[in-house]
Amino acid sequence: MREFVYETMPGRVVFGSGTIGRVGEEVERLGCGRVLVLATPGQMEQAEALRERLGWLAVGVFGEARMHTPVETTAQAVEVALGLGADCTVAIGGGSTIGLGKAVSLRAGLPQVVVPTTYAGSEVTPVLGETHNGRKITVRDPAVLPRTVIYDVDLTLTLSASLTATSGLNAMAHAVEALWAKDANPITSLLAGQAIRAFATALPRLACAPDDRDARAEALYGAWLAGTCLATVGMALHHKLCHVLGGAFDLPHSETHAVVLPHVVAFNAPAAPSAMDAIAAALGTSDATTGLIDLRQRLGVPGSLCELGMPESGIERAADLATTDTYWNPRPITRDAAQELIAGAWAGAPPDQYSSRTS
Ligand code: NAD
Repeated sequence: MREFVYETMPGRVVFGSGTIGRVGEEVERLGCGRVLVLATPGQMEQAEALRERLGWLAVGVFGEARMHTPVETTAQAVEVALGLGADCTVAIGGGSTIGLGKAVSLRAGLPQVVVPTTYAGSEVTPVLGETHNGRKITVRDPAVLPRTVIYDVDLTLTLSASLTATSGLNAMAHAVEALWAKDANPITSLLAGQAIRAFATALPRLACAPDDRDARAEALYGAWLAGTCLATVGMALHHKLCHVLGGAFDLPHSETHAVVLPHVVAFNAPAAPSAMDAIAAALGTSDATTGLIDLRQRLGVPGSLCELGMPESGIERAADLATTDTYWNPRPITRDAAQELIAGAWAGAPPDQYSSRTS
């Protein structure tokens, strides 16, 4: 008999096309009426358009969201929010902007409506990663969970081909790790399989036709499912490695996930056979690792950490950092095995070599 614990995250999801038009009613539904819109400098146009659409409900726009949520930026945003008397935030953007909304919420207690425009999945997690003096700290607190998520397929049409591919593979990584999670349960495994299937279908179509709305909708749906997996069960070696690599070498977030994922899948394969079967089935291939590599190659995504700018001299340090703390992984990893795996990902080597190692 299977025993499990499943905890749902509270939150309301509005999904569709043109749903940006519903932000105002969703804000009012929360009893709010003084919105501070959050965005990155690159998405100010979308943020200003939203402010205009919100009319009297909006009190301002803060357009300085940054990757990795530096606490200094959050302090500025909190000051602006309090100065304007905002009673909620609406973050429009990817994981970086949503991270800022969470960080503001943690300090100022403002409820959040979020409008995700990438596939990162942060919108449905109670997790916030913030950078203090160059060190990224992760906080898990139900207080940072957005109240309402508005998925608008139309807003993802402007995602570049490269961010579409890497952000999709980043989301797929949440689903893959959910399948071998220590606290995996039948519900998240269902969500994970569906998420992988959605991206395996949508990403190749988007690589040829970025404005294919049906494929965009499929990918955004996959992002929600994968984000829900990330929110619900514990992640393992893959997320640990990407966190270490991103933090230590300032590597781009979603590209790092895209490079590392097949290596971790190959490493974990001997210890997680049913997860491998589920991944392969969702990808429509006979083998999880080669299926992921084929997909990545079809999408034209970089295949090595070297291409992302990681110095070869950093491999040993990354292996040290990745094995300093103990954490659960279906296949325990030694420092030497971590070094071998990171060296393989650095060089973009075929990952089949890890299966013969004993740990
Ligand atoms: P991002 O938010 O940094 O976005 C990358 C760039 O793309 C930004 O300049 C952004 O403005 C732009 N962009 C986003 N959507 C766009 C669109 N539709 N059209 C045009 N440009 C667009 O990237 P990301 O990968 O979404 O997020 C990465 C960050 O999110 C990392 O800091 C990561 O740690 C965090 N994250 C957190 C969680 C969590 O649960 N806490 C989950 C996933 C990611």
